[in-house]
Amino acid sequence: MQDSIQIGNVKTDTLIESKWENVISRKVFRDRYHPNMAPIMSSSDAAARIEEAIKSNKVAIFSKTYCPFCKKVKGLFNELNTTYYALELDVIDKNEAALLQDALKQRTGMSTVPNVFVSGQHIGGCDDTLKFHQQEKLLPLLGIENGTTNSNPFEYDLVVIGGGSGGLAASKEAAKLGKKVAVCDFVKPSPAGTAWGLGGTCVNVGCIPKKLMHQSALLGQALSDATAFGWKVSEAPVHDWATLVEGVQNHIGSLNWGYRVALKQANVTYLNEFAEFVDDHTILTTNKRNKTRQVTSRDFLIAVGGRPRYPDIPGALEYGVTSDDLFSLPYNPGKTLCIGASYIALECAGFLASFGMDTTVMVRSILLRGFDQQIASLIGEHMETHNVRFLRGWIPVSIEKIGDGTPANLLVKYKSTETGEIQQEEYNTVVFAIGRDPCTPNLKLQNAGVELSSKTGKVLTNEADQSNIPNIYAIGDVAENRPELTPVAIQAGILLAKRLYAGSKVLTDYDKVPTTVFTPMEYGCCGLSEEDAEAKYGANNIEVYHTAFQPLECAVPKRDENRCYAKLIVNKLENERVVGFHYLGPNAGEITQGFAVAIKLNATKDVFDNLIGIHPTCAEIFTTLTITKSSGLSALKTGC
Ligand code: FAD
Ligand code: NDP
Repeated sequence: MQDSIQIGNVKTDTLIESKWENVISRKVFRDRYHPNMAPIMSSSDAAARIEEAIKSNKVAIFSKTYCPFCKKVKGLFNELNTTYYALELDVIDKNEAALLQDALKQRTGMSTVPNVFVSGQHIGGCDDTLKFHQQEKLLPLLGIENGTTNSNPFEYDLVVIGGGSGGLAASKEAAKLGKKVAVCDFVKPSPAGTAWGLGGTCVNVGCIPKKLMHQSALLGQALSDATAFGWKVSEAPVHDWATLVEGVQNHIGSLNWGYRVALKQANVTYLNEFAEFVDDHTILTTNKRNKTRQVTSRDFLIAVGGRPRYPDIPGALEYGVTSDDLFSLPYNPGKTLCIGASYIALECAGFLASFGMDTTVMVRSILLRGFDQQIASLIGEHMETHNVRFLRGWIPVSIEKIGDGTPANLLVKYKSTETGEIQQEEYNTVVFAIGRDPCTPNLKLQNAGVELSSKTGKVLTNEADQSNIPNIYAIGDVAENRPELTPVAIQAGILLAKRLYAGSKVLTDYDKVPTTVFTPMEYGCCGLSEEDAEAKYGANNIEVYHTAFQPLECAVPKRDENRCYAKLIVNKLENERVVGFHYLGPNAGEITQGFAVAIKLNATKDVFDNLIGIHPTCAEIFTTLTITKSSGLSALKTGC
């Protein structure tokens, strides 16, 4: 029966599944709101998918990941070094799994798993397959003579190159699905000589040390607020860089160890070796003693991430450092110049200034390119009031060492992008944060025929993260057009393994990925910036609801009045669907993570309005946004 129903403000024609329940059809809901979820299938689709799996694979196993009998039967094929296709019914959509199990029952009379087919012939469950093997019928059916097989001529089912966020997640998932997996991870030291352990950028030289240093900055702020809240602090607090670095590095060390143990427990072989391609099924690996060997695999996953870029100016490599070095710098960096104006430069400058260091950011053009520029300006203003100096419209020209020591004295010359005028200033530390380059140049991808973007050097992939070479995939920072964020790499790795080895069809949804910049005032966003929303929908079709505010915790120490900010960008043509969420204030990461669910589900402004807030919080501001930009009214808060 055709009818219309309402979700939030979206009116939609759909099937009403029963008269007394206003239930939206799953298919319509999924098609409209979750287009990336696996499509709903019919019974005949299910039967066809089973036939396809049986026809196109020498061994097809319908299985569940947790079932011990399924594990046993997959173990048998692993022992026989035979490649199998497993459709793991517990990792795919529940409705689809039920249809597939019905179809299997109709075809084989069996409703249990494992349900095994070899060369198109139905063998049965675990005991049936073991018995079939004991009766010496299995090997001939597999085409194995005298115990040798050409079914999987490779050493591994999957070799992952890169043991960072994405690579580790993918390798463990693939091993969980019964595959023989290895991870190659090797860290080439930075030009300043810094190297680290297993886990990739995030753990060693990215998110984790950055967030810990950010926490140290927040504590500094809390200490200075404390007196207004009644604490008697006998001496002015002093920050000790060496203690911070020691604490951060000890924590990282324990994470490195944890990752090694996790790989071992997951049955993934860890090769602490640098990999380069020999052909599309072979890599050459080199360990730190320069010992080499060849490793073959049916599939490869490139998850090598990126490394910081250096400018091509005299002294950059000799005297500059990057985020690869800063978090483990054994001495106080002193007066620091951060070059670059995006995530990394601003975050590093933010925590350094809050530790009391004389901190300058050299900005070539704008702050936080790609982010909402109104908020980028607010971040800049906030940082300026918190002791960060900005040199806007300048680029570095040279760095010269003019005094030894730790830190040394460096003379930095820099040029105006407008007038070409040259100026110079002395610093102790220069941090380059001018972008990152993918680690593809040394991978010899040309030997495997893998295509790279001529502009970025990243691996070109399709929506299923597959390169132009069918058995070679790429995820994370090394893949073209993917947000360079840890959870993106992890999600992509897990879903890829499920698609490759468990019959899943679910793609990674790279749209509306929430993110947070920690400057240390936090900025969280999800969806479009105001500029992008205008470009996409037209300036007349969007509305902005916004307010500046002062968090309650800042009121007593009387700081940052109206420096925090919230805005929702809505599309007027879609019942004010929220297309951009932006929040500048304390705990932005935590707040944005929660609201991102609403943005992903296409919530409209009235959903936010109808939501009852949690008081007293900063997040509740999103339930009471009434001032529109088009009204011209001031967004500054004057009372509570
Ligand atoms: P990586 O984690 O970079 O791992 C790649 C691994 O492959 C490395 O160990 C590398 O040494 C190894 N490798 C490279 N080439 C080879 C080879 N040929 N053979 C063997 N091994 C090789 N993201 C967030 O989500 N939140 C944050 O707060 C955040 N903060 C960040 C702060 C900084 C300072 C930086 C630099 C990044 C930050 N990121 C953050 C981004 C995040 O760290 C990356 O997006 C994420 O680590 C990418 O994971 P990946 O698996 O693609 O690669
Ligand atoms: P980005 O590529 O985001 O930004 C590079 C910055 O450097 C820009 O401001 C750019 O200016 C400037 N720049 C580029 N070349 C030069 C040059 N030759 N001289 C002076 N300035 C220059 O790089 P980041 O290194 O900041 O970050 C890399 C990625 O890491 C991010 O995209 C992000 O995904 C991830 N990350 C995530 C974090 C988080 O989630 N909180 C934190 C840190 C990193 P211009 O605008 O003029 O081009």
